[in-house]
Amino acid sequence: MRRCAAEGDVPACDHWKRQQRLGDLEVEFCTAGAALFGVADYVPALMEYVERYGIQLNFQHNLIAVDGPNRCATFKVTDAEGQTREIEKPFDMLHVCPVQKAPAFISQSPLADAAGWIELDPETLQHKRYGDVFGLGDAGNTPNAKTAAAVRKQAPVVAENVLRALLGEAPRAIYDGYGSCPLTVERGKIVLAEFGYGGKLQPTFPTWLVDGRRPSRLSWLLKEKLLPWIYWNGMLKGREWLAQPQILAHNPAQHDAAAACDFGDRKQGI
Ligand SMILES: Cc1cc2nc3c(=O)[nH]c(=O)nc-3n(C[C@H](O)[C@H](O)[C@H](O)COP(=O)(O)OP(=O)(O)OC[C@H]3O[C@@H](n4cnc5c(N)ncnc54)[C@H](O)[C@@H]3O)c2cc1C
Repeated sequence: MRRCAAEGDVPACDHWKRQQRLGDLEVEFCTAGAALFGVADYVPALMEYVERYGIQLNFQHNLIAVDGPNRCATFKVTDAEGQTREIEKPFDMLHVCPVQKAPAFISQSPLADAAGWIELDPETLQHKRYGDVFGLGDAGNTPNAKTAAAVRKQAPVVAENVLRALLGEAPRAIYDGYGSCPLTVERGKIVLAEFGYGGKLQPTFPTWLVDGRRPSRLSWLLKEKLLPWIYWNGMLKGREWLAQPQILAHNPAQHDAAAACDFGDRKQGI
C-alpha cells in the first residue's frame, strides 16, 4: 500500500489561500489510483478540503514521463471501460510522489517476492521461505501503509518473534497492520488516519478526544509538539508503552517458513 495521498497538494493550497493567490492557480491532483484515499472513512474530510481549495481530482492517471525543460507531464489514463490513452499536461510546478520500490539489494535478492519486496508473513513478519529471516519497514511486502508508525508497531513483533525463534519456538506475536497517516489539511489541522489491515480503523485515542475522521487541532499539536519528543525519547530508545504486540495463545497457522525453521542447534548456545 502506498503512503498518504494528496499530502503535498493540500497544505500547499492552504498556503496559497492565505496568500490570496489560490484564485490565480489551477491545482490538479492526479493519481494512478481510483480513490482520493485508500480508506473510505477519511475521504469525506479530505473532500471538504478538495472542494474548499478547488482542486481538480484526476483518478487513474499514471505519470509515465516528465519533460522538465518544457514543463510537460505525460500520463497514461485508464477510462471506465479499461481503455488506456496517453495525455500531456503542461505545468508551472509539479509535485511528484515517486513510485515506491525496494532497494535493488533487496529486490534482486532471494528474499524478494515477484514484485521485489521482502516476502513476509503479514502477521508474524517472518520470511515466508526463510524461517530464520524476519523483516519490517518499507521494504516488506505486508499490505499496510508504509509509514514509520507501522515500523513502530512492527519492531516489538519482530523482537518478540526473533527471541522465540532463537529458543526454537514458533512465532506468536502478531502485527495487525497498524499504520498512521497524519494528513495535514491546513496549517494547524490534521486528519489523523490510523488503520490496519483491510482498512480497519485503529484509533489510538477515544473518539471524544480525537476523531481521526475529522480535521483536528489536537492532532496537529500531537504531531508538532508531542510526537518529536516521543520519537526521540521513547520510540528510538525502545521505551514505548502503547506498542505492545498481541501475543497469540496458540501457534499461528503453519506455512512454509515454519517448515523451514530449524533453530535446534542455536538453542544449544543460549
Ligand atoms: C516525505 C515523507 C513524509 C513521511 N511522513 C511520515 C509521517 O508523518 N508518519 C509516518 O509514520 N511515516 C512517515 N513517512 C514514512 C516513513 O518515513 C517510512 O515509512 C519509514 O522511514 C520506513 O522506515 P524503514 O526503516 O523501513 O526505511 P528507511 O527509513 O527508508 O531506512 C532505510 C535505510 O536504509 C539505507 N540504505 C539503503 N540502501 C542501503 C545499502 N545498500 N546499504 C546500507 N544502507 C542502505 C537508507 O539510507 C535508509 O537509511 C514519511 C515518508 C516520507 C518520504
